[in-house]
Amino acid sequence: MYWHKNNFLIKWLYPSFVWSKPGKEKIIYLTFDDGPIPGVTEWVLDVLQHYHAKATFFCVGDNIRKHPRVFEKVKQEGHSIGNHTFNHLNGWKTAKKIYLENVSKFGQVAGQEVHLFRPPYGKISRSQAAVIRQTHQLIMWDVLSGDFDNTLPAHTCLQKSIQYTQKGTIIVFHDSLKARRNLQFVLPRYLQHFHSLGYSFEKL
Ligand SMILES: [Zn+2]
Repeated sequence: MYWHKNNFLIKWLYPSFVWSKPGKEKIIYLTFDDGPIPGVTEWVLDVLQHYHAKATFFCVGDNIRKHPRVFEKVKQEGHSIGNHTFNHLNGWKTAKKIYLENVSKFGQVAGQEVHLFRPPYGKISRSQAAVIRQTHQLIMWDVLSGDFDNTLPAHTCLQKSIQYTQKGTIIVFHDSLKARRNLQFVLPRYLQHFHSLGYSFEKL
């Protein structure tokens, strides 16, 4: 169960998290979780380049370890990097000490300072968040594309993503094998739609 559009209640419960960046400018913040994955991530990079789009990649540390060259390419092309833990841990099911160690372990493979963090599944305890917030901005989202949901028809995924996007939206996609089918349909069309409306795509 998930919502394409986050409701006001959850934002009110966690005001210190960044959910979107509303303003007058036509800007969208694209985010890609769970990579880098060979094939998928490079495909995303090519699509982004076509639209002169910059994005933020919330990488899994273990995937950086396995695919360092793909990770280098993400950095070289000028995108932002965010910490998504080393092993994609669920904060609600993981002891604080182990969770924080996993967040730190990400730093060992990132090869640069990283000050953005997104909890896998959006699940993090208040006490975990309190520590991570000292060194990172906690980035959530206001629009979930649902690309990872293989029961969701690709055109519905596109239609919902477009419908809920506003100025300053932070939208979640996944550069993962699971999301690939929907992503390949949705991403170019989503970018084309908002590009033609005069939007730009910026990194966090
Ligand atoms: Zn994730």
